[in-house]
Amino acid sequence: MFYKSTRNELLQVTSAEAIAQGISKEGGLFIPCEIPKISKKELKSLTDLSYVDVAAYVLKKYLTDFTDDEIAKCVNGAYAGTFDTENVVTYADLEGLGYIMELWHGPTCAFKDVALQILPYLLTTSVKKVGIDKEVVILVATSGDTGKAALEGFKDVEGTKIMVFYPEDGVSAMQKLQMVTQEGGNVSVCAIKGNFDDAQTGVKKIFTDPEVAQKLADNGLMFSSANSINWGRLLPQIVYYVYSYTNLVKEGKITFGDKINIVVPTGNFGNILAAYYAKRMGVPIKTLICASNANNVLTDFINTGVYDRNRQFYTTISPSMDILISSNLERLIYHLRGSDKIVSKLYADLAKTGKFEVCKSVKSRLEKSFFADFSDDEETMETIKEAYDKYSYTIDTHTAVAYSVYNKYVAKTGDSTPTVIASTASPYKFSASVLEALDKNVTGLDEFGLTEELHAVSKMPIPKSLSELSGKPVRFSGSIEKQDMQDYIFGILNIK
Ligand SMILES: *Cc1c(COP(=O)(O)O)cnc(C)c1O
Repeated sequence: MFYKSTRNELLQVTSAEAIAQGISKEGGLFIPCEIPKISKKELKSLTDLSYVDVAAYVLKKYLTDFTDDEIAKCVNGAYAGTFDTENVVTYADLEGLGYIMELWHGPTCAFKDVALQILPYLLTTSVKKVGIDKEVVILVATSGDTGKAALEGFKDVEGTKIMVFYPEDGVSAMQKLQMVTQEGGNVSVCAIKGNFDDAQTGVKKIFTDPEVAQKLADNGLMFSSANSINWGRLLPQIVYYVYSYTNLVKEGKITFGDKINIVVPTGNFGNILAAYYAKRMGVPIKTLICASNANNVLTDFINTGVYDRNRQFYTTISPSMDILISSNLERLIYHLRGSDKIVSKLYADLAKTGKFEVCKSVKSRLEKSFFADFSDDEETMETIKEAYDKYSYTIDTHTAVAYSVYNKYVAKTGDSTPTVIASTASPYKFSASVLEALDKNVTGLDEFGLTEELHAVSKMPIPKSLSELSGKPVRFSGSIEKQDMQDYIFGILNIK
């Protein structure tokens, strides 16, 4: 099986090449030339498998140039004993509300761990397979959670260095603390005076600059990406949608063959795109519900076909979704339209005018698979309170956006299809907002005081990886202008 670029179909590579490169030379994203299928019979046979085995099964479909042994090493290394649940994800059944798929039981308490625990294995295996003898420099732009999850995944991984850029005022206090105290000899972390889009655009630009690439090569280095532009980030996320379906069957919540809906709190469109791949593979998924916060560029796009980033950027209580340029949408548009010329044209329009519009046929295909709405901060807070009051269940701000939009979906459509809601972060990462939503007084409390208070209220165990931060020294306090990213990178790498 081969992968091609969304902006140039003639550029075809193996999965190992796609993962090692991260992004295609001309700025396009790698996608599978054909989406593999899971037959009903195969899907049924997965019902009794553990998470690790389902992961190996799904990965094998896409990584046809990997051996079984390589895949087994990747999935076992990533998932055996690194999550505080046996099967990576767990589910909370809130009657009437649906099934909350808790994806945040990994080392950094966000769903990003599911992909970023395995990406270093996939990447180092890919680099070896392709025969590259360069050190890989991972560049990451983060809206908060990717950065920490990538740092944990790549810390002290041989043959790699990792650099993370985050928006100075755009992450939660706990997210920042997690990153600036990061341990490891191959890591660096830097704040950008700008928002996430500035960081992501800067990283993408440096990535695709041929002169920069040459300079790195001259120094025995190459860039790759741990953002969801990298296929190796996206692929592991397909697994939990497949697993969730088989798990609901196993637990007797649905009958095999029944359809389900999936709700995803969305920013860069990576997580929901993974659900779309699961649907295209043959998992019985009816509607993909795309939940945004006040930065509702995707809501408008899915409802009108016009993508327009020329709008106010809001800093919200769900900072990991404060994004106006959703990279992975490019992959979806390719799959819906099937033309590299058109994708190139749309993205040239976006770069020039901040806007593009898709044709009627894409619009109608979007409407068939997706529902989109958004939840502002006030509604999100009310939703946290509602979940707590009704079910004694505490959710974080991102999950609350999803829950709130799911309520809107049900009110609008009356659809009673069983629904899985992706819960993307532990409430402990956003304690202040969650406590405020629950009408608790948080004045004067530091991050750890807030954690204790949230524990008293939620009765949920405090993740050790967060409580441990209190004694750790700050290693990275730097902050730079967004146009200085390249100089910063060259400085760290000692490139003149
Ligand atoms: C990254 C993130 C999201 C958004 O996911 P995308 O794949 O970027 O759409 C939602 N919630 C949390 C907690 C996140 O960290």
